[in-house]
Amino acid sequence: MVKEDYKNLGFECRETNANYISYFKDGKWDEGKLKDTDCITISAFSPALHYGQEAFEGLKAYRRSDGSIQMFRPTENAKRLRRSCERMLMPLVPEEKFIDACEQVIKANMDLIPPYGSGATLYLRPFIIGVGRNLGVKPAKEYLFSVICSPVGSYFKGGLAPNKFLITDFDRAAPNGTGDSKVGGNYAASLWPHQVALDKGYADCIYLDPLTHTKIDEVGAANFFGITRDNKFITPKSSSILPSITKYSLMYLAKEKLNLEIIEGEVFVDKLDIFAEAGACGTAAVISPIGRIDVGNKQHVFYSETEVGPITRKLYDLLMGIQFGDIEAPEGWIHIVK
Ligand SMILES: *Cc1c(COP(=O)(O)O)cnc(C)c1O
Repeated sequence: MVKEDYKNLGFECRETNANYISYFKDGKWDEGKLKDTDCITISAFSPALHYGQEAFEGLKAYRRSDGSIQMFRPTENAKRLRRSCERMLMPLVPEEKFIDACEQVIKANMDLIPPYGSGATLYLRPFIIGVGRNLGVKPAKEYLFSVICSPVGSYFKGGLAPNKFLITDFDRAAPNGTGDSKVGGNYAASLWPHQVALDKGYADCIYLDPLTHTKIDEVGAANFFGITRDNKFITPKSSSILPSITKYSLMYLAKEKLNLEIIEGEVFVDKLDIFAEAGACGTAAVISPIGRIDVGNKQHVFYSETEVGPITRKLYDLLMGIQFGDIEAPEGWIHIVK
């Protein structure tokens, strides 16, 4: 593909050279190997298929201006996968195995990693599923850990632009459920609400805390943050949201580089007026600025419905600069693939 094509790339599956696969049997992981296919053969009785015993991650490999490749905080993804595995009663994938699998996949697909300057990246999808013949509701005896990948485009084709979001009555997770684990079941629960939002012309829906429905929990499959008029970066603290690595990185940058006060707390839907800017954050888009939130027949406009606020833009530029290697990263954030 030429550079221009990478600019038009979406978030879809493309043919790649190889994927990583490793099996857990008799209480231990095998060494794992690369395979030139994304097809796997598993028993149709596999608990992942019926009972959702699975967990996944999402991270990217970025091409730097000198042509070399880096990952962004992959050990944080490895740690989060471990927490998800614990919650799903699955064997833990050792951190070194996780990083090694990502590196193997990156190296095998080096020629498919988009050029610097296109905004495109190689998306990596590590996942673990419970496999084997298993009829009752109980954890699998065997597991499969794999890392698949695809080149993906920059989320915003025409540059960073605000979106509008809808608050609905749907929940994606329960108060003491699995909302803080990166597991497939949460996504299955979100498909319908997402479609409802799309059908009404919104980018996605916003989930409120499932207990009281008064506070913002998540924005689709991304975390929420708002910047108050007096320069505070506020993001929800809740046991039913997925701890976004992007969000914690933005919090650090907001504090250390932009001198904002950082607050993890409550974001009441009826107090959105305190925010001058707002955004959704996650690996896929980095930041998706929130121009407007609609709830019932009320509309709340943040900075602007068409333009991105200055602090949101600064945070976006800082993090993108770090992820593509143009801006020096805080200690330990960058993993160069050698
Ligand atoms: C993956 C995910 C995010 C974003 O996490 P990042 O680590 O920033 O990519 C946010 N919310 C949900 C529900 C997620 O699954």
